[in-house]
Amino acid sequence: MSLIDYEQIFVWGCLPLMAAALGFFFTHFFVRVLEIMKVLTPQHFIIYKHSKESRESLRDKVFAKISKKEQFVSNVLSLIGPAQWFIGLIAGILLSHIFSSSTADDLATEKSFSNLNSQRTMAQVMFKLIMLHLLDDFFLYWGHRIQHEIPYMWKKWHSQHHQLQTPTTYATAYVHDLDSTLQAGIPMIMATILVKPSSIAFTIYCFIRLSENTINHSGYDHPLINVLWWKWFPLRAPIGHHDSHHRYSNHGKSAKNYAEFYIIWDWVFGTYRKAGTS
Ligand SMILES: [Zn+2]
Ligand SMILES: [Zn+2]
Repeated sequence: MSLIDYEQIFVWGCLPLMAAALGFFFTHFFVRVLEIMKVLTPQHFIIYKHSKESRESLRDKVFAKISKKEQFVSNVLSLIGPAQWFIGLIAGILLSHIFSSSTADDLATEKSFSNLNSQRTMAQVMFKLIMLHLLDDFFLYWGHRIQHEIPYMWKKWHSQHHQLQTPTTYATAYVHDLDSTLQAGIPMIMATILVKPSSIAFTIYCFIRLSENTINHSGYDHPLINVLWWKWFPLRAPIGHHDSHHRYSNHGKSAKNYAEFYIIWDWVFGTYRKAGTS
């Protein structure tokens, strides 16, 4: 392998970056379509028992403060802006070099992946996807928590995202570039180095990761969403997990519900609160 293998950088850097962005755009517009079709209505909003104001009213106040357009543009910049391409390039160079020794294995896996009868390969891909999310959630947990615990990080970076106390999918990547690096870029790269997935599994994982992040900001609790995003899987965090984080943890220290995918790490480190409670 030469020092710079452009094809491998594209496979490990550019494709996953585009898959992650697609995960956001697909989920964001899917939710909009379900709203237009009246499948999702205010009836399905997550409601907080002691709230004096309707969720629609609270949501509209957020849009009055930071418009939909401003939030959406921020999402585009956070997902496919210069900072993300830089991280994609670093990831592409780093991962392609780390996995260059297992290229033969990857090729064999991907070749057999095309054979849908290969149940073993499918099982391997599924196992690696679950492990990726479990470890990514661990690193994300700490990338998120330190930004609440360290006053400088909270004030300069993470408080931007917490301006949106009642989130919608527009809030997903309304984040500072260094916030997304700590919560997404670094955790995803570290989990990948440990799990050693094929490039295909890594790209699928990037799509699912951003899709999950987007649906967790939707504000809806609907059976269709819970089935499609497999919220029924053991120890999965419900949409209310992150929604409650926005509602009750708009402050630095002592926040709750940091993780995204599973409730495991919040439970292990004592920061778990049942969705809907403070
Ligand atoms: Zn937070
Ligand atoms: Zn959020």
